[in-house]
Amino acid sequence: MPDPRPPGLATLAIRTGHHRTAEQEHSEAIFPTSSYVFASAAEAAARFGGEQPGNIYSRFTNPTVAAFEERLAALEGGESCVATASGMSAILAMCLGLLQAGDHMVSSRSIFGSTTVLFNKYLSRCGIQTSYVPLADLDAWAAAIRPNTRLLFVETPSNPLTEMGDIRALADLAHAQGCLLAVDNCFCTPALQRPLALGADLVIHSATKYLDGQGRCLGGAVVGDRKRVGEEVFGVLRTAGPTMSPFNAWVFLKGLETLALRMEAHSRAAADLAAWLEGRPGVTRVHYPGLPSHPQHHLVGSQQRGGGGIVAFEVAGGREAAWRVIDATRMVSITANLGDTKTTITHPASTTHGRLSAEERAAAGIGEGLIRVAVGLEDLPDIQDDLARGLV
Ligand SMILES: *Cc1c(COP(=O)(O)O)cnc(C)c1O
Repeated sequence: MPDPRPPGLATLAIRTGHHRTAEQEHSEAIFPTSSYVFASAAEAAARFGGEQPGNIYSRFTNPTVAAFEERLAALEGGESCVATASGMSAILAMCLGLLQAGDHMVSSRSIFGSTTVLFNKYLSRCGIQTSYVPLADLDAWAAAIRPNTRLLFVETPSNPLTEMGDIRALADLAHAQGCLLAVDNCFCTPALQRPLALGADLVIHSATKYLDGQGRCLGGAVVGDRKRVGEEVFGVLRTAGPTMSPFNAWVFLKGLETLALRMEAHSRAAADLAAWLEGRPGVTRVHYPGLPSHPQHHLVGSQQRGGGGIVAFEVAGGREAAWRVIDATRMVSITANLGDTKTTITHPASTTHGRLSAEERAAAGIGEGLIRVAVGLEDLPDIQDDLARGLV
């Protein structure tokens, strides 16, 4: 008999992680409990001592959170997943779990604004230094690695410019130098890109975005091998407690069930919107992985399936023109979240990337005329009409 065919991604997203209780519920149960009862003092001692597996306290384990962790680990193809209270606490827990004073990281300079602040202001206080390089410049990555470099950190596609890094090449570079590669897979999700299969060691998620899919809850996750994630990162969570709530985990479980469908729809709409924007008056540049004009377009197909749901574009006339486009919208939401069924629009230079210095913003390529649209699932002509109002 040949080996049975492994389940597909949509099946994993719908079926993994649900361990039905004696109630025989069809949909996953929520366990809103902070602690768990032991049958005896001896059992309590055995649980605390680690001799007997089982729940103790929801700072470290909760059945609903565990279901989400098991499901996301399966989708990313990782041995272990640790769920966290937010995407930022996932990055913090990973760094605290795997790095120590004297260590060095190399990071793409095109990363989420708060991630830059976390590295520069807070991790530096712990003696962990970070160097920044242009995401797509492999020579710059190689040149930035020092004897004490432990981790390469990349977000691909990047926020907001949708630049792409070559995950396979970065993983090879990291491993040749004895480093780990961590990929923030927020923009693609495992429905479009599976970094571990491409050689990455760790995957970061802001579940707040596409994993939820409807802008309801904050959450995050780290996925990777049993030792680093299941023990080291889990140890930080167990002790410091940036834990995901069971209610949020349940919302994300439901979100994952439609992830593949949604990502395909977001991607298709974003590709059409990007092509349409390229011909609009006042639009000087459109950033979208699926466009042939994108500098790393070749990675679509080989590394990520489709271009994803984020489109950034530049308008002539700087901040004034960009704000005009944003303020002329009637349907699209002016809000910093992304990965929602509702289309959202932001001016990165004055919001998500506003805490960076002008020089840091310039180095990251975030101009005053740049607008980011996270394309939702409304009818595309309605999104186009809304954006066209301010484009003159
Ligand atoms: C939003 C975001 C984060 C941070 O996640 P939170 O859930 O908001 O803490 C990290 N990385 C990327 C790429 C993001 O878009």
